[in-house]
Amino acid sequence: MHNRVVQVALPLPARRTFDYQLRREHPAVREGSRVRVPLQRREVTGMVIGAATISSVPPGKLKSVSVVLDAEPSIPSTLLKFLKWAADYYHHPIGEVIRAALPTTMRSTRGIQPRLPTRYSLTSAGRAALRTLSKQAIRQRRVLGALAEAGDGGLSLDALTNSIARPTSTLKLLQGRGWIEMYQNAEDFLLTAAKKAGPALNQSQRRAVREIGAELSRYVPFLLQGVTGSGKTEIYLKAAASVVASGRQALVLVPEIALTPQLLARFQEGLGGTLAVIHSGLTDRERHIAWWAARQGLADVVVGTRSAVFTPLARPGLYIVDEEHDASYKQQDGFRYNARDLIVKRAQQDGVPVILGSATPSLESMENVRQGRYRQLLLRQRVRGAAMPKFQLLDLGRLPVTSGMTPPMLAALRLRLDRGEQSIVYVNRRGFAPVVLCSTCRWQARCDRCDVHLTLHRRSERLRCHHCGASRDPPEQCPKCGQSTLHPVGEGTQRVEDTLQKVLPGVRILRLDSDNTGNAADLATDLARVRQGTIDVLVGTQLVAKGHDFPAVTLVCILNADSGLYSVDFRAAERLYQQLTQVAGRAGRAERPGQVLVQTRHPENVSLFRLARHDYNGFVTAELDQRRLAFCPPFIRFALLRAESLRPAVSLEFVSVAARVGHRRLAGQPSQAVRLMDPVPSPMERKAGRYRAQLLVTSHAHTPLHRFLDDWLCDLEGLKSGRSVRWSLDVDPMEMY
Ligand code: ADP
Ligand code: ZN
Ligand code: ZN
Repeated sequence: MHNRVVQVALPLPARRTFDYQLRREHPAVREGSRVRVPLQRREVTGMVIGAATISSVPPGKLKSVSVVLDAEPSIPSTLLKFLKWAADYYHHPIGEVIRAALPTTMRSTRGIQPRLPTRYSLTSAGRAALRTLSKQAIRQRRVLGALAEAGDGGLSLDALTNSIARPTSTLKLLQGRGWIEMYQNAEDFLLTAAKKAGPALNQSQRRAVREIGAELSRYVPFLLQGVTGSGKTEIYLKAAASVVASGRQALVLVPEIALTPQLLARFQEGLGGTLAVIHSGLTDRERHIAWWAARQGLADVVVGTRSAVFTPLARPGLYIVDEEHDASYKQQDGFRYNARDLIVKRAQQDGVPVILGSATPSLESMENVRQGRYRQLLLRQRVRGAAMPKFQLLDLGRLPVTSGMTPPMLAALRLRLDRGEQSIVYVNRRGFAPVVLCSTCRWQARCDRCDVHLTLHRRSERLRCHHCGASRDPPEQCPKCGQSTLHPVGEGTQRVEDTLQKVLPGVRILRLDSDNTGNAADLATDLARVRQGTIDVLVGTQLVAKGHDFPAVTLVCILNADSGLYSVDFRAAERLYQQLTQVAGRAGRAERPGQVLVQTRHPENVSLFRLARHDYNGFVTAELDQRRLAFCPPFIRFALLRAESLRPAVSLEFVSVAARVGHRRLAGQPSQAVRLMDPVPSPMERKAGRYRAQLLVTSHAHTPLHRFLDDWLCDLEGLKSGRSVRWSLDVDPMEMY
């Protein structure tokens, strides 16, 4: 870059870059290098993302870069190009996109290379010294002895500290004498995976592996649609292993690390390479090391959650997304990206294949298969000849109910208990009861700050709001009529647990919901207990559904399937189907066949009928037809403008002004390519004390929508009414509130 004026992206909510000039003494700077620059009275770290040929700032006013932090670009140019694309697509400020993509440590002046774990090893002089050193030099002998025993690789500082208390001064002394060497590398941090063969693949698995293997050197998006227990992990592993064998790297996205121990375990024993795992339990420094190891090409495979989509790779070779339909790939605040969608773009830019895997792929991906954009790989059968679980619908309208459970459900649970088999009870609400109601005057406990009911929690005896976290003591008497006629209504996980304890004496229950699971380690311990068989019944929310492979589970009970059946959210049916398939898929994965009991008030519902017949494709066809008729994604593009404020009218006023401005923009255009819906209060208008309103923008195609958004956002940034609200734009929103 010859030009001495550079465009810098700063972590600010501004949809623009900032020009700075380089002084003579500054080294040459390339795109992707970080710089420190003055901003008002502060200094901030930004990234050079281009050269400014003509600056809009008059030369005399142009400020200088204070320090060039990186002599080389901190991220590969391909990744920078990808981030620019993402900023463009989501209409989000590039500086904030870059901030989301870099390790937190690099927001400061820290170098690209993190502080690495320290190792020590013995020199030949040290080996000789160990033989002659006086017996009195106990600490020195201890250190040298331990290192001699450890051999060539030496020992990490952590390992040394475990055998010798506070070894630092001794280490310094030995180092000074040239008896030991200190070095730093990322290896201690990476997992080194063996190359164990694993099960022999069945025919469909082999075909899938062969098809992927034939396309490793160009962009091909694969949709791996395999029923639950069909062995998708083995396919990811084989594909990743051959990419690694050819000297390249793979990036694997999973919904949540703690919930995918089997995938990690399988990669650790079968990959034959090094593995970096990026998860929420890492410290900033550890995260930086993983990032760096990927960037340097030291990690052959990176496994991580949503934000790992931005991990730099030295030699990208393959991208994989497990459970591609999972909602957790969508970031719901700030930079609202969808990692599943982004990774496909990244694969395309890098010219490498991408595998999206799921038992129930998103309707977006299914439509991409129909349009010939994605190549479908099907696994129709479970491995080892295991049968698909048998579904039975139980009519809540006709059967008597005890704490949400019908007699056939309780009988089925009792039968499993007698046979020594395990069961899962899926309840979509945590807490004891979702509503507290006065039977005299119909008063209900509601949150003061949100438009929702408060949930009763029995363990803590509190009423809690699941949206803002507020909590209070449950009243003794009804605050409205004063009677002692308050009753908990409906079932949460705690109530189901209590009831099962009563009706199945001696049953060993594990309740799994976000109230009850602390950190990732606790969760892993809990899941291990289930596998060991010291648990009879697992009761929980979505946490029980995710990819677990518990061979002894033969029964899955779904307490209530109705929440998603007749909802205003156009994705509700899809999400319900995916959730229920996933939880049902935990049943009968080994020799013993699985049964799934689904309680509903709508046993005639056609989606439930298809679910029970394992007819996802039938469901998809019908659902896509409906989406087309209703002008919904994937046929129509959505962007949602949201606003919130402490005063009720203000946010609605802002989106109304935004709508007027938008209509004016559109009036000049000939076609009806972009449409603005009516500005409305959000479905749940009040949340955490803020009033929310929204405006939906739709278009039949990508290009006109994005052209409109570009202009419109400029308008909105200039609006005075925008200053009294918090507003944001969500491109391809997942939640419509
Ligand atoms: P999915 O992700 O499709 O639900 P998994 O990949 O978790 O399924 O596989 C389920 C189980 O089957 C795992 O324990 C896995 O090791 C095993 N498995 C995979 N492929 C085979 C095979 N060909 N033969 C026997 N077992 C297999
Ligand atoms: Zn009352
Ligand atoms: Zn609340």
